Amino acid sequence: MQEIRFRSIASHLISRIVLLAIVGMSLFVGLLGIWEYESGKSSFKTIMEQHANASLLPLSHALWDIDPQVLRQQVHGLSRLPQVGYVRVQAAISGELFEEGLSAPEGREATLKMEIPAPVGVLGEAKIPLGTLEVWKSSSYYAEQMRNAILGMVLGYVLFTVMVCVAVMLVMRRQLQEPLRQIAIFARNLKPNGLPQTLVLNRPGRDYVDEIDLVAKGFMQLQSDLQSHIAHLDLLVAERTSQLQQMVDEVKRLSLTDALTGCLNRRALDERLLAEVERSQRYSRPLSVVFLDLDRFKRVNDEHGHATGDAVLREVAWRCQRELRTQVDWLARYGGEEFLVVLPESGVAQASQLAQRLGRVIRDQSIDVDGLHLSVTASFGIAQLHGNETMDELLSRADAALYEAKAAGRNCARVSAL
Ligand code: GH3
Ligand code: MG
Ligand code: MG
Repeated sequence: MQEIRFRSIASHLISRIVLLAIVGMSLFVGLLGIWEYESGKSSFKTIMEQHANASLLPLSHALWDIDPQVLRQQVHGLSRLPQVGYVRVQAAISGELFEEGLSAPEGREATLKMEIPAPVGVLGEAKIPLGTLEVWKSSSYYAEQMRNAILGMVLGYVLFTVMVCVAVMLVMRRQLQEPLRQIAIFARNLKPNGLPQTLVLNRPGRDYVDEIDLVAKGFMQLQSDLQSHIAHLDLLVAERTSQLQQMVDEVKRLSLTDALTGCLNRRALDERLLAEVERSQRYSRPLSVVFLDLDRFKRVNDEHGHATGDAVLREVAWRCQRELRTQVDWLARYGGEEFLVVLPESGVAQASQLAQRLGRVIRDQSIDVDGLHLSVTASFGIAQLHGNETMDELLSRADAALYEAKAAGRNCARVSAL
């Protein structure tokens, strides 16, 4: 994506001020020019009328006396005035011209034209003019006057504009540019791991707040909201993780537990027994197993229903579990109505004793299910691990012993010989 160029608000504002100043100045100078021109015109008329009126009397006498020297002096005197460009006096009778000036009129109409009357009293009441006085303004004088006035104005205007720009620049830099830059940096660094940093603006002390303070306050609020949100999320994640762990543990437990009886299932049995066999062989420690199979269990199902059979299985498992050395011996459901007791650190003697005990706790007390008092017996096959025997070999020997017990009439235990 094309990067958009950066332009500071201060420079934008200043360029706008300068543009506005140029437009304003052009208008102002135009108006000033018109005003200067008009006021110059009327002031010329006033000044010239004063001077001309003062000259009329000497001119009148000079014409009457036909004194060209005085006439030339008067014309010269008038033409020397800075506002005057050209002066012409024309004698009415002789038509003679007396003229002087820097810029010839060249067909231009005179700015001021007056008739020169005859001296008072010489012609009685008759007011016959002796000549005419024509005066042209000095265009260079007025142009210069106008130029000076406009130049002064323009200079003042430019100076004022520059001062305004400098003031705006300073105020913007101090009040806007620097704090905004700091806020931008703060916002850019506002990352989850950078949240503890605080926003400190280098601004002069004030007894009021402005837009910058509001923006900064907004960002700090955002920061604090993010902080609490993240803290809340952390808490939530920890809570969910622990819930998930509990669920994983539960699933793991369920995957290794027999749903009906609550003891270890076949899968757990395979894993654990394999480990027990390896441990026993590595440390040359005794290990025995006892197969337990309920006698004629099919009958229980057939006579009392499957649910009753399930209850019997649960009760048998519970009674057996109760008889074991906790933490050492363990019971697993091998499948159907068959269980396996594993006795680490035990030889056949101890395993036989346990089998007898289990036989008694199953047989001696009836199992009560829904008002029925069921007598149940079990047969046992016992085997102790020998040498480098595998787990499967051990189990098949125990199974063979169980088969012997069944064959011997059930409700008894048999030990596998090697
Ligand atoms: P034996 O003395 O020769 O062992 O006879 P048995 O009837 O106990 O043996 P058999 O193998 O003929 O039958 C086992 C029965 O166990 C069959 C089946 O209905 C029952 N059984 C297996 N698993 C379950 C179970 O989870 N619940 C119930 N209720 N019965 C089961
Ligand atoms: Mg069986
Ligand atoms: Mg059976």
